[in-house]
Amino acid sequence: MQFADTHCHLDFCQFDLSRELLLLECHKASIDLIIIPSTKHGGWDKIIQLGQQFHQLQPALGLHPYFLSEHSESDLDKLDSYLKHFASSVVAVGEIGLDALVGDFPLQQFFLERQLDLASRYQLPVIFHSRKMHSQLIKSLKKFDLPGGVVHSFSGSTQELKQFVSLGLSIGVGSVITWPGSKKTRKAIQDAPLESLVLETDAPDMPVVGEAKGQSTPLNVLKVFESLCQIRLESPENLSSALWENSLRLFNKSNYTFF
Ligand SMILES: [Zn+2]
Repeated sequence: MQFADTHCHLDFCQFDLSRELLLLECHKASIDLIIIPSTKHGGWDKIIQLGQQFHQLQPALGLHPYFLSEHSESDLDKLDSYLKHFASSVVAVGEIGLDALVGDFPLQQFFLERQLDLASRYQLPVIFHSRKMHSQLIKSLKKFDLPGGVVHSFSGSTQELKQFVSLGLSIGVGSVITWPGSKKTRKAIQDAPLESLVLETDAPDMPVVGEAKGQSTPLNVLKVFESLCQIRLESPENLSSALWENSLRLFNKSNYTFF
């Protein structure tokens, strides 16, 4: 079995001292592909450099809605030039989206749609962040011709999941399914088409059940997988190989090999 963590903030400085050891442990656990989404323009260089340093780390560039007050319009021009310059290494635009906890919805939408336009122009998949903003997000993404994407750390109903899948998006299955209270999301993921699912941790932020906040690492992808095995009918082998293939297809990495 081989695993991909399709959403992990391994660039955060809290991993600076442990990153190499952690990647060694990931390799032993067959976690052979890790997508690093970005949050602000100031982090892009580090993410690209990590991608050059470690074969299994793949960069995504974007402006996260949670940090809206730190973004400026010129960051969008920078994103354009980074996507052009690093076209051979960047695998997605993200994470971008809408967050109900952040104010100024029109400005959030402005940044989202400008970045969707770039994703469409460069034909890159998108890593979406959507906190209680699913229907508004759908309205925006329908305006663009995107080559796919993923709703990261999906939390919501079967109905909402189906809507995303019908738009060609994948569903990021994260630690939320390890929490006993998340019945609605677990049911939605149980009923989802297998080809739409990918695994993720959102480390260091989203804890698995029983873990303190901020302590997550990409190794938790195995715990998310265990929880997924409990709610799906497929055998663990079939499930893991489908999840791996789905991840490669999503990020156009079908020729990817990791030894
Ligand atoms: Zn994230």
